[in-house]
Amino acid sequence: MSAPVRRAPVRNEPTPSACSVPGCAEPVVRHLALVEARRGLDGLPESGRTASLCRAHYKQWKRATRDARTLDRLAR
Ligand SMILES: [Zn+2]
Repeated sequence: MSAPVRRAPVRNEPTPSACSVPGCAEPVVRHLALVEARRGLDGLPESGRTASLCRAHYKQWKRATRDARTLDRLAR
């Protein structure tokens, strides 16, 4: 009898934990859909479905998309 195989938890993250913004190697704090992330940040890669952002770039993204999101909220 073989011992039961323990399944290691599989992380479904497509990217290692470094910011998706080119030239930035800060640790990731947020994952966003790439289409969402590209609304507020320039230079993100074209490929992939998820953008990983460090704290600084997440803040930058929030600031950049705040107006649009506010309007979106008001429009409902
Ligand atoms: Zn970054």
